[in-house]
Amino acid sequence: MGPDTPKEISPEERAKRLKVKKDYENERRIAFTVMDEEKGTTHSVIYHKEKDEWTCDCMWFSTRYDKTKRYCAHILAAKRWSE
Ligand SMILES: [Zn+2]
Repeated sequence: MGPDTPKEISPEERAKRLKVKKDYENERRIAFTVMDEEKGTTHSVIYHKEKDEWTCDCMWFSTRYDKTKRYCAHILAAKRWSE
């Protein structure tokens, strides 16, 4: 990967294009809906307060997070929104 391989946009860049809506918050968690209008998809992102952990229901998160410890664009968007 270098400057000549711009085809795959990083999760950080994609996060800026996503719309975030906070669904609810309680003592244990904060739930968000994250919308990707370009792809027409929505995902559920949860922040688990006690563990200080984020989860998402997308494929990236379920297949790649354990190996890479990198968050998907949906989680990054929700983090940006809540900071
Ligand atoms: Zn995700």
